[in-house]
Amino acid sequence: MFNDIRSRLIISYIIVIFVALAISFGSLIAIRQPMQDQFTYRQLTDQMTQLVKEIQETKGNHRGHHYGYNARQLPATIVDFPQNNISRLLVIADESIIVFDSHDRWQGRTIDLPEGAFHMGMMPKRMIDPDKHHVMYVNATISMNNSTDLHLLLTTNPPMDQSGFIDYLINGFIVAGLIAFFISVLLGLLITRSIANPLQGISVGAKSVAMGNYQHQVPEVGPDEVKALAQSFNAMTKQVRASQIAMRDFVSNVSHDLKTPLTSIQGFSQAMLDGAVHDEAMQKKATSIIHEEANRMRRLVDNLLDLANLDAGQIAIEQHAVNLTQLLTITIDSLALQAQDKRINIIQEISALTTITGDGDRLSQVFTNLVDNAIKYTSHDGTIKIHGEITVRQNMNGHHSNRFAKITINDTGIGIPSDELPRIFERFYQVDKSRQGKNGTGLGLAIAQNIITSHDGYLEVKSELGIGSHFTVWLPVVS
Ligand code: ADP
Repeated sequence: MFNDIRSRLIISYIIVIFVALAISFGSLIAIRQPMQDQFTYRQLTDQMTQLVKEIQETKGNHRGHHYGYNARQLPATIVDFPQNNISRLLVIADESIIVFDSHDRWQGRTIDLPEGAFHMGMMPKRMIDPDKHHVMYVNATISMNNSTDLHLLLTTNPPMDQSGFIDYLINGFIVAGLIAFFISVLLGLLITRSIANPLQGISVGAKSVAMGNYQHQVPEVGPDEVKALAQSFNAMTKQVRASQIAMRDFVSNVSHDLKTPLTSIQGFSQAMLDGAVHDEAMQKKATSIIHEEANRMRRLVDNLLDLANLDAGQIAIEQHAVNLTQLLTITIDSLALQAQDKRINIIQEISALTTITGDGDRLSQVFTNLVDNAIKYTSHDGTIKIHGEITVRQNMNGHHSNRFAKITINDTGIGIPSDELPRIFERFYQVDKSRQGKNGTGLGLAIAQNIITSHDGYLEVKSELGIGSHFTVWLPVVS
């Protein structure tokens, strides 16, 4: 029943508001009495101080008073004490007999005073007046000329009463509670609308993507967290769409690259079966073409398997000491014949390199591919320079800088057009299919990058058409 975010939010608002109201109600009740006492006490004390001062200033100014059985001479200031709604002045004689009442009602009556009622003190005192009401009072004693003491009591008037105040408070809190209830429902509805609606949109989007509609994008609105969720959702669908397209392209590239040699093999073998290839030279040519095409298919399938295994993490990148100078020397030597054939000069500046931790076979595969490409795409009499150094490079996030082995392979070859440069690490991407003859698969650089990334390194390229290419491999040196 209360499973949706809207009711939960409203209920939590209501609970919070009512808890806050209850706490303030309790606190008000708790502090009301001491606060009111303090206030009344101050009022009574001020009034009494003023009264005593006036009496002392006007001493001798007496008026005669007769209250039944006791006659006193009272100062005029007392007799003239006004009847008001805040306090009531009583003059007590003989410890308990009221000889004067500013409200003119209790003269002559006795009053039951607690012990120590006439002690001077700063604390408010309480008593029960002749009408049996609880009152607060302050007292003062004045010595008269005839050396009698007059005890003055100033009491609260009207007497103290709590029940009215509490009723008043409860009514106030009921009204406040009702207003708070409506405000919380309203606020809950408003706030949840900004959360629930975008979330509902994302839910609809997720269903739509599940049904194969990868183009579905959801509006990036709402509070930060919901907006971030919508952005991640959109990024995810874009990614899914991109990998769908990549997968489709991949399948079509593989089929295409397998179809060409297969057609050739099929054609030549058919011709041989049909007896169309008569002389020995023709037969030799046909078998060598079949052999070459089978080799090409073999290379392609090997590369594909390699890539698939690297992707799936099935090829463990071994971690052992690799002497980079040694590894590069062997790699370059193995390609020396190819370079010689094209009279390409290979310059090696690799003595400064150190030993790193990694997979020697896989790294050798990378450098073979890069140097092989450099030879392939450099014309006769060109130059390839392989340079190695240890240097510092900042990490991707720019926070740390680490030591790296930096190996650059520069060639004076045909170069790569700048608009195609970002794509050459893609699977099957070949700048111009016709330019590398039949040997390329377009998978070499994709595999190389995969291997270098697995070593926490970077593979970068710069190139200028007609001038040459510049590949850089960065491998971390763990010291
Ligand atoms: P391939 O097997 O076709 O060489 P690669 O993945 O190794 O595949 O290279 C992808 C493409 O990048 C190549 O088709 C080629 O056009 C281009 N390329 C790679 N290295 C060089 C280079 N040194 N000079 C010019 N172009 C290059």
